[in-house]
Amino acid sequence: MILYDVHLHSRFSTDSREEPENIAETAISKGLRGICFTDHMDLYFPEECSKKSGGDFTFDLDGYFEELDELKAKYRNRLDIRIGMEIGLRNETELKSKVVSGYEEMLNKYPFDFIIGSTHCLENIDPYWEEYWYGRTAEEGLDRYFDAIDQNVSDSCLFDTVGHLDYLVRYVSEEACLRSAEAKGLAGICHSGSLKRLYGREIYTPADFSDRIDSILKKIIDDGKALEINSAGLKYGLGFAHPKEEILKRYRELGGELITIGSDAHIAEHLAYDFDTVREMLIYLGYKYYFIYNERKSEGITLQ
Ligand SMILES: [Zn+2]
Ligand SMILES: [Zn+2]
Repeated sequence: MILYDVHLHSRFSTDSREEPENIAETAISKGLRGICFTDHMDLYFPEECSKKSGGDFTFDLDGYFEELDELKAKYRNRLDIRIGMEIGLRNETELKSKVVSGYEEMLNKYPFDFIIGSTHCLENIDPYWEEYWYGRTAEEGLDRYFDAIDQNVSDSCLFDTVGHLDYLVRYVSEEACLRSAEAKGLAGICHSGSLKRLYGREIYTPADFSDRIDSILKKIIDDGKALEINSAGLKYGLGFAHPKEEILKRYRELGGELITIGSDAHIAEHLAYDFDTVREMLIYLGYKYYFIYNERKSEGITLQ
């Protein structure tokens, strides 16, 4: 089994209310050897989106380390607890340098084990919200998103792994999905039921973005950074973890080996969500190891 879940959120994240101790207890009950807390830190999160989300996706790092250090000590014989953070990278010209220096300051000040570099916002909006998709096909919206990631991964000193590469397929608006289905001659598909997440389930193919994705993967590999497999896609009913299997296959073809695995759980019961499926897929694709991080250094664990 996969013994570590290294992407999860507690009540230090704007979008979670979960108690860290409940996460630790649940991890033990699920047979995990260790976990890494990776709460959300999204500097300069767009104000409008913060209002709608009920918070700005930042938190008090002193309090975080104080509480998690205590938890680590309390569970030291039962669970390997590590302290990380999921940072939101930004490509907007006016924000980029401010965001990078903000994270650099945090990384210099606090002893993080592991940093996930994710792209949650671009064009000063979180594309989780419909407005991002106005007037766009799903492919146009996603192409801009992959382009933002491609720019963001250049700041590789900030992170250890790239989070949920294609998760945006979950949030394509219904209108954008319909426009794409029409453009691809798949209009009939839209009458079969709910459009929610239809794009991710039925239409999305990484081949539509292969240049962008290749560029991202090559940069990650050159910089010695990892690619995350995020099982939340399975939880959302897409039938695949992020990124989709074709991308993991391509990563390996290009020489990529560093893989991290996380559930992106926001409640304890989602810890290690469907990790068996992830494990089988990695073995099928020829991967031999997955990686965990301690003080920002990687350690391989054999997949078995
Ligand atoms: Zn994320
Ligand atoms: Zn997350």
